[in-house]
Amino acid sequence: MNQLEKILRPTLAHIHPYNSGLGLDEVKSKYGVTEIAKLASNENPAGPAPQVLSGLKLASSDLFLYPDANSVKLATTLADYLDVASDNLIFGNGSEELISIICRSVVQPGDRVITLYPSFPLHEDYATLMGAKVERISLTDALETDLKALLEAVAKPAKMLIFANPMNPVGTWLNPQQLKKVIATKHPDTLLVLDEAYYEYAIEGDYVSGQACLMPGDQNWIILRTFSKAWGLAGLRVGFGICGSKQLRQALDLTRTPFNINAIAQMAATLALQNDGHMKSCTAETIRQRNLMAQELSSRGYRIAPSLGNFVFFDVKRPSMPVAEDLMKRGTIIKPWKQEGYDTFIRVSIGSEQENTKFLTDLDAILPPDHKPPVSV
Ligand SMILES: *Cc1c(COP(=O)(O)O)cnc(C)c1O
Repeated sequence: MNQLEKILRPTLAHIHPYNSGLGLDEVKSKYGVTEIAKLASNENPAGPAPQVLSGLKLASSDLFLYPDANSVKLATTLADYLDVASDNLIFGNGSEELISIICRSVVQPGDRVITLYPSFPLHEDYATLMGAKVERISLTDALETDLKALLEAVAKPAKMLIFANPMNPVGTWLNPQQLKKVIATKHPDTLLVLDEAYYEYAIEGDYVSGQACLMPGDQNWIILRTFSKAWGLAGLRVGFGICGSKQLRQALDLTRTPFNINAIAQMAATLALQNDGHMKSCTAETIRQRNLMAQELSSRGYRIAPSLGNFVFFDVKRPSMPVAEDLMKRGTIIKPWKQEGYDTFIRVSIGSEQENTKFLTDLDAILPPDHKPPVSV
């Protein structure tokens, strides 16, 4: 054992670096391209409501002060917006920080943690870091959630059940009946962490929030949402959790750093909620673009998974890393999936109409479409 290995938690050896990909400027300078379509991180290309940007200009006079440790203004605005108790709301520096806070608070070495696969890697990474034994429920060959396997797994005691609905990277979702069944079957001592990062994009589908599927009396749950996707504030880092009880929120507060949401972020998220029309119109346009993208890709013969998110996941039937590299040379950034079993898949975010068109043009240049006529229904 070398000196470093003696001081590091042994579980670190099981964690892969987060695949955050290259940023706009890095791609521009590395490949010498000027026009970029950044379709790798599921952001809202239209950004936040204009009122957020004008409001932020007023925030700078208070920047010498620590921010409100409890984000009270944001919490009361959000509690009204969602019609939940503000005492049950917790904020994170992105919802990814909340995943870390939850794992730090509840997971002990040897605990059983259940998640879906392929997945948002942090769902398992933070649990693994705390020493959990993570059990993955893989997709069926039809790229659907294996409900039978999931129900069998959750019926037995586990510390935590954590998954996204709709799922990332796949985009599929459990419908209200399926979600109710999973929640009703879960062992009562298992904490349900339901990541609804794409909730705002999903509500026009056969979908409801987990909030509508809870068992009376069960307080062992947290629903995670974020301002990073539909609300257009990924750069400011604000996510939140709706907790099953005030006591659960207070327990999580103990492992959160006190000033984790900066003053600008608190103000921006509050203004975004107060001007939600912008988010709603962006979301409607993204859904329209998503359906067009799905049509375009399937007409080219790609197998794509159904999606209620602002992205689609599809199989290029060859290692997706070199395809991603070739796309990047042309200025299109997407996410080649790296998890075992899915490394021929690409997840492409739905951007502006212009970005989506650029992506399809660049993809066709690299992988000429096999001019099969679309299957008509
Ligand atoms: C993007 C994403 C997040 C991260 O959101 P932040 O609030 O930006 O940390 C969390 N969960 C899932 C499933 C995501 O896709």
